[in-house]
Amino acid sequence: MSLLVVGTVAFDEIETPLGKTGRILGGAATYVALAASHLIKDIRISAVVGGDFPQQYMDIFSARNLNTSGIQVVPGEKSFYWSGRYHSNMNQRDTLATELNVLADFNPVLPAAYRDSKYLMLGNLTPSIQKKVIEQMDHRPKLICMDTMNFWMDTAWDDLLSVVSMVDVLAVNEEEARQLSGEYSLVRAAKKIQTMGPEYIIVKRGEYGALLFYGDRKFYAPAMPLEEVIDPTGAGDSFAGGFMGYLTKTDDISYESMKNGLIYGAALASFSVEKFGTKRLMEISAQDIQDRLVEFVKLVSFSV
Ligand code: AMP
Repeated sequence: MSLLVVGTVAFDEIETPLGKTGRILGGAATYVALAASHLIKDIRISAVVGGDFPQQYMDIFSARNLNTSGIQVVPGEKSFYWSGRYHSNMNQRDTLATELNVLADFNPVLPAAYRDSKYLMLGNLTPSIQKKVIEQMDHRPKLICMDTMNFWMDTAWDDLLSVVSMVDVLAVNEEEARQLSGEYSLVRAAKKIQTMGPEYIIVKRGEYGALLFYGDRKFYAPAMPLEEVIDPTGAGDSFAGGFMGYLTKTDDISYESMKNGLIYGAALASFSVEKFGTKRLMEISAQDIQDRLVEFVKLVSFSV
C-alpha cells in the first residue's frame, strides 16, 4: 500500500539543556517519512525546498527508498527554517524562529504517480497547501490523517478549519487540541473537534503518551519511559509516521487497528528522541523496533 506524506522539509536548529545543533535536517515530512520507512516501502513525499538544500540530505531520503520526485526545488531561494529551545523539563519549548522562505509561495503539484496514493498524511504545513494536496488526488484516499500546530491556528484559522473538515484523523498535541476546541478537558476537546469533521482524534501528550478518541471510546498509549531524552523535536511527527506506517502496512483502518497504530507511533517516537534530529531514526533496525514493541507490551500488560 502507498503512503503520501506532505509537510515541511527543513533546516532545523535546536537547543536543549544537553547541547545545541547547528543547522540540521528537519521538517515534519522528513520525520514522518523516515519513521514510516521502517514499516512500509511505498512512500511518496510532497514538499518544497530551496536551492540551499544539500544533496547529501536528498541522499538520506533515497537511502531509505523514499520517493522524492514530488519535492520541488526552487533554485536561488532558501528552505524553510525553524529553530527552537527546550526548557529543562524537555516537555516545553520556545520557538525562536520560523522562516517560511520557499514555503510562502509553495504551490504543490503532485506527480501523476502520487495521485493514486491510498493513505495520506498531511504533516504540519500551511493549511491551504494541505487542502490543495487533497484536491489533487485522483480518488479520496482510504484514510487522511492531519497534523497542525498553534502557528497555523494563529495565522490561518479559516483555512485550517476547512482542511480539518476534510480529514478522518486529526493528530495534535494537547495544547493544540485545547486551542482548536476552546475546551480544557481533553475529552470535551476531542468531542468538539469531532463535530468539526474528523471521526478520530489523537491527542499527543509528549512524555505522557497519547490518547485516541473515537465516538465515546478512548484508548491510551503510554510513552516509553526513557532514562534520557536528548531531543524531542519531531517526536510528534515520528509518532504520526509510525501510526500511518502501521495502518498503511496492514491496510486496516478499524478502531482496533488504530490502537495498534498508536503503539507503533509511540515506539517510533521513543527512538526519535534518543539522539539529536533524525539521527536515531536513520540507524534503528527492524529488530530494534520489534524489541521496543515487546517492551511496550510488558509496560502495559496487567490482569484484573
Ligand atoms: P514536532 O517536534 O513533532 O512538533 O515537529 C518539529 C518539526 O516541525 C521540525 O522539524 C520543524 O522543522 C517543523 N516545524 C516547525 N514549525 C513548523 C510550522 N509552522 N509548519 C510546519 N512545520 C514546522
